[in-house]
This record gives sequence, structure tokens and C-alpha cells, in this order.
Amino acid sequence: MTTAEILNSIMSTGPVLEHGHVWLAGAGPGDPRYLTLEVVAALGQADIVVRDALVSDEVLKLAPQAEIVFAGKRGGKPSAVQDDITASLIDFARQGKKVLRLKGGDPFVFGRGGEEAEALVAAAIPFRVLPGMTSSLAALASAYIPVTMRGISRAITLATGHAAGTDDDVDWLALAKTNEPIVVYMGLKNIETITSLLMQGGRAPETPVAVIMSATTPQERIFIGQLQNIAEDAKREQFEAPALIVIGDIVSMRPRLGVADQ
Ligand code: SAH
Repeated sequence: MTTAEILNSIMSTGPVLEHGHVWLAGAGPGDPRYLTLEVVAALGQADIVVRDALVSDEVLKLAPQAEIVFAGKRGGKPSAVQDDITASLIDFARQGKKVLRLKGGDPFVFGRGGEEAEALVAAAIPFRVLPGMTSSLAALASAYIPVTMRGISRAITLATGHAAGTDDDVDWLALAKTNEPIVVYMGLKNIETITSLLMQGGRAPETPVAVIMSATTPQERIFIGQLQNIAEDAKREQFEAPALIVIGDIVSMRPRLGVADQ
């Protein structure tokens, strides 16, 4: 069998997206080559794709037969209210559509996928969850920064920076004490608060930090700096969402693996 034939048989043997069902899926970090085969198969079957802002147009080209509904959610930009999104998923399913709810990265990593799934359970809508490659893991590997590395990191924290400085915030002081690397999603807006709390918690000001914007897409940009200056650097260099902030000595592996930065 040729590779194409083997791929076809893998794609055609999976579960079928049925009328009235919702599949809650992750589209990976951006580059369509990081889609899973299962999500590609789902894109080919859907009647309707309810997409987030982070899902790229290249990915949606794989669903030419489907109606595309935008449920844009991106920090600081106008976005559909979460309740409206879940209500529309339920409506489309009740109309008998084959619904693909497509989010950037993995649906259960900071995507409110858990909440959407709960709402589908409450409405008795049959659904499946299809994993996607979360942006942090894709961004790190493609930036030549190992997530774990013997002698450098034994654990990693994925944190949201969205609520930094509010009552609903992550305990940055406690995270600082672990000395293990942290990847911050949605952190650019609050980078100053986050970095100063981490230093207050005991992280060395010289700790290497990478800011990775639009990982795996043609707009990808990477800046390497130190905890003490990265807030200014990111501002000066005009980094914008979507971006990840990677804090920890694992970032120093990048030059050791032969990548030269500024
Ligand atoms: N479910 C997604 C995360 C949604 S929250 C996932 O698993 O990746 C949105 C945040 O994800 C963005 O603000 C940014 O921090 C991060 N993100 C998503 N895609 C990204 C990309 N291609 N490059 C950098 N950051 C990305």
C-alpha cells in the first residue's frame, strides 16, 4: 500500500460524525500540518464548523462543504459571549446538523472546552472530544526549547496570565518557588505584573525568558530575554497576541541546540 492509501484507510475507519452530534476539537497551533488526522476527518464530515479566532483559514479550507460560523474569542477584541456560543452549539445540534466545534490548540487547555462539554451534557447532546496539539508544546519544540530536560526541569506549569493582578489570579509567588519552568498563555497584556510577581517570589531577574508569537504560522516571532527586562522588550518589539511567555532555564537550551538569536 502507498502512504496515501494507508492514510485513507486510517481516516475512513474512525467514528462517524452523526447528525445532531457535536465534536469538540482542537485545531493545533496554527500550521495545518499539526492537525491530527482525526480532526482532518472531522473537517471533511461537518455540516457546520463553529470556529474560534485562533483557527487559521488554511485549516478551514479542509471543510469546503461546511458552513463556517465565527465564535471569535480573543483577549481585548469583541467576542461572542460564552453562553451564546454554547447555546448555538446546542441549537445547531437540535436542528440535526453535524457540528464541529473547533478551537485553537487543544480544546481542553484554556479554551473553555470543559464548560462547553458540561453544557452539552446538561442539554443531553451527544458529543466527543478530539484532542489537538496545544500551542505551548508545539511552540516550544519548534523553537528548540525542550519542555523537560534532565538536570534543568522536572515539571512544567501551564498557566493563564489573563487574570493576573485580580482576585482570580494564579499564585505566582508559589509558582516562583518551584523553580520549574512556566509557560504563560494569554499573558502579554499582564506581562509586567506577572514578571514582577515571579521576581518577588524569588525567581532570579536573569532567568531566561522566551516570548513566542503566532507559533508555527508565517507570522511567528520569537524574542529571547531575561525576566527583569522582558516586559519592556516585548512592548518595544511590539509583540501581540497570540503569544506565549516561557520562563525558565529550559530557554537556555535554544542556543545550546544551535539557534542564534538577537
Ligand atoms: N486551547 C488553546 C489555548 C487557548 S487560549 C491551546 O491549547 O493552545 C489562547 C492563548 O493561547 C493565546 O492568547 C496564546 O497565549 C496561546 N496561543 C494559541 N495559539 C498560539 C500560537 N500559535 N502561538 C502562540 N500562542 C498561541
